[in-house]
Amino acid sequence: MDSETLETFTRLGNSIVRDGWKKSLDVLFALLRKKFVFDNLVIYIIEGSGSTPEVIYARAAGRGRSKEADASWGEEIAIQVITTGKAVESQPANPPSTDRTTTPHLLGLPLIFPDRRGALVFIRFGGPEFTAEQMPLAILAATQTARVLELNILQENMTQLELARHRAQLQDDFIATISHELHTPLGFIKGYTTSLLRSDTTWDTATQKEFLTIIDEESDHLLTLIDRMLDSARLQSGTMSMDFQPIRLDSHLRNVAQKAQGRQEGLDVVLDLTSAPPIQADTVRLVEVFDNLFDNAIKYAPGATITISLQVKDNWQIVTFTDLGPGIPTEHIPFLFERFYRVPGQFSKSGTGLGLFICKQIIQAHHGRISVKTSPGKGTAFKIELPFHPEKAV
Ligand code: ADP
Repeated sequence: MDSETLETFTRLGNSIVRDGWKKSLDVLFALLRKKFVFDNLVIYIIEGSGSTPEVIYARAAGRGRSKEADASWGEEIAIQVITTGKAVESQPANPPSTDRTTTPHLLGLPLIFPDRRGALVFIRFGGPEFTAEQMPLAILAATQTARVLELNILQENMTQLELARHRAQLQDDFIATISHELHTPLGFIKGYTTSLLRSDTTWDTATQKEFLTIIDEESDHLLTLIDRMLDSARLQSGTMSMDFQPIRLDSHLRNVAQKAQGRQEGLDVVLDLTSAPPIQADTVRLVEVFDNLFDNAIKYAPGATITISLQVKDNWQIVTFTDLGPGIPTEHIPFLFERFYRVPGQFSKSGTGLGLFICKQIIQAHHGRISVKTSPGKGTAFKIELPFHPEKAV
């Protein structure tokens, strides 16, 4: 094998792994064109038992560049190739003319897959004709094209499988999490109530008050949990209605910080709030998001300074909650906003894994975005971007 062909294969192999199938085909056809002239090419695929070929890739390399978008010129020959499973060549019906794009020479080659059918169609405007000597190279290109696409299908299937496995795991975790989360407060409530009701023991007033306080706190915890589960179900099914009113984010962020400082003595909060005009938002839901991000910072970055900033950029207001806590290992970031996802190893801290999921749904209902940046050992920043007018941001 000559060194150029070797290099071709090496570049193609690297490109498949690195850049995905479209870029790999770009590399393949750019290299092919050095030895096999063509102006345009199109790949058609018929999925399953369908009969209409879909264009999945089209490139214009030479004359007739503008024809790339209009790839329908190859459809007829693609259907013939797919139906017969054989290479089909078609010469122009028109006599040679000065406008070469009116005299297309077409060559269609079958693409062989286990579960779909396809064709690779080359076009030369105004010739030259496709010759028998050029066929082996064209067939090799079609074989390589099918391989690249096959690899892509396999990769997609693997990603789908991995996602399905991950979802199934989340469902299993859900049952375990919810049973555990419901069990723990109920266990306390039941235990302390039974103790108070014991006929063989009398409790002094201070002890009775202590037990009742625990029962009260655990009942609150249970109510929060049930509310969150209901919220998350409503948000996911799209049945939670939003009440949009003009609100000022800076004043709500100040209140949320004050409330949190009331709950947590010595909490170090830095406010960096631009005075921004009102935006259309659902106050109750948005405050729920802010409370949740605050509670998370307090819970997962205990003792660390928390900075809340508000900035205005174009038609967006940007709220950032930054803590200088331990951060989140980066491999967990893609799953953080999923329902019931909790970073392993933090299960001693109470939680449901529903908070960030709910935040994301609420922000999306405002046509906004929420994202996280974290640096393990240095801290975490949650960024919320809200449009001034949610209805225009769709
Ligand atoms: P919960 O707090 O109920 O577990 P969330 O959905 O609010 O659920 O958060 C998901 C996970 O994200 C948490 O379990 C925690 O591991 C991680 N997390 C959230 N906020 C922070 C933070 N500020 N610092 C470190 N980890 C965080």
